[in-house]
Parts: sequence; C-alpha cells; structure tokens
Amino acid sequence: MKIICIGRNYAEHIAELNNERPSEPVIFIKPDSAVLPKEQDFYIPDFSKDIHYEVEVLVKIKKVGKHIAKAFAPKYYDEIGLGIDFTARDLQGQLKEKGLPWEKAKGFDGAAVIGTWVAKDKLANLGQLGFELKKNGVVVQSGNTSHMLYSIDEIISYVSQFFTLKKGDVIFTGTPAGVGKVAPNDYLSGILENQELFTVTIK
Ligand code: ZN
Repeated sequence: MKIICIGRNYAEHIAELNNERPSEPVIFIKPDSAVLPKEQDFYIPDFSKDIHYEVEVLVKIKKVGKHIAKAFAPKYYDEIGLGIDFTARDLQGQLKEKGLPWEKAKGFDGAAVIGTWVAKDKLANLGQLGFELKKNGVVVQSGNTSHMLYSIDEIISYVSQFFTLKKGDVIFTGTPAGVGKVAPNDYLSGILENQELFTVTIK
C-alpha cells in the first residue's frame, strides 16, 4: 500500500506557510512504514524539534486504476477517513530551501495517522465535510472540504495519471490552516462530521 499526499490544497494554509498557490496539485508520497499502528502513541523523533500536526481528510482506494477520468473517480473509493500528516517542519524547511525532496520530513515512522473509516454513503455531501483537530480538548484546526482547491475526484484523476492506484492505497487530501507544534503529553483527536475518528497521545 502507498500513501499519496496532496500539499497546498487549502488557500489559508498556503498563506500561513508563505507558500505559492500551485497551478497543479503538489504531490508527495509516504512509505507504508510511516503508518502509526492503531492504539500506539506518537514518539517525537530525535531529528526534529518542530513536529507539526496537519489534520487531513483521507480517501481509501478500493480497486486498481490509472488514467481515471474525474467523472469515474467515485467508482474507485467507498470509504472516507481522517488522519494526520505529521511533518518535521524544521527539517522540511531546510530541505525546501535547498530544493531537495521532503521525504525525510514527511515519511518517517509514525508520520501517518489513519483513523477509522466511514462509508461514503453515510456522509451527506463529500464536497462539504466539516472536520477538526483538537489538541488537549481545544480546537486547533477546523476545515471544510468545500475549501479545497482540488476536490477528491480531481485529485484521484490527477494522481492516477502518474501513479497506478491500487486497492488499499490511501490519499491524504491536504490540510487547512492552523497547523502547529506538538509537545510531549499532548492529546490529539480528529473529528469528521461530529464523529471522532482518531485519538493520538504524543510522547
Ligand atoms: Zn499535509
């Protein structure tokens, strides 16, 4: 299984990191070893002093496909989720400055939190999903899929031009504004349409 992530998909988050608005989706990949095992705590790695949370809506691919037209994209997923794209912001900054790939800052062990999946038929409108991340009970990120620059179906269509999508692959669709640092003993929880889909304790 592979994890495909979209960067810079919400205008307000692009602004908070002083990034350029992309003319096409920004894509990167996390290895399957990045998935934080269920019920496991997240340990801040030694190589970073600035690990950020990024809450994101997830899509699980249900069958193999490539060159998928946007109109047919809904046939390739039945489940929607919520997760965290943990990012070593300090390391990412150094890599970006040198024009180097971000993988070390985004693909390390535990950097992908994947919550409980929800059947898409249980959700009224995928283009208008509200979601939030709470840190120690306080909302720190709050987003809505209606603010995405590229919709789920556009992402699937775009990504599948480059990578064959396979059953079980997961797409992280980008984070809204409000990203921030985690510290030991923080407790994070992710909510999609009033349903809590994951909790993580930071160590
Ligand atoms: Zn992200």
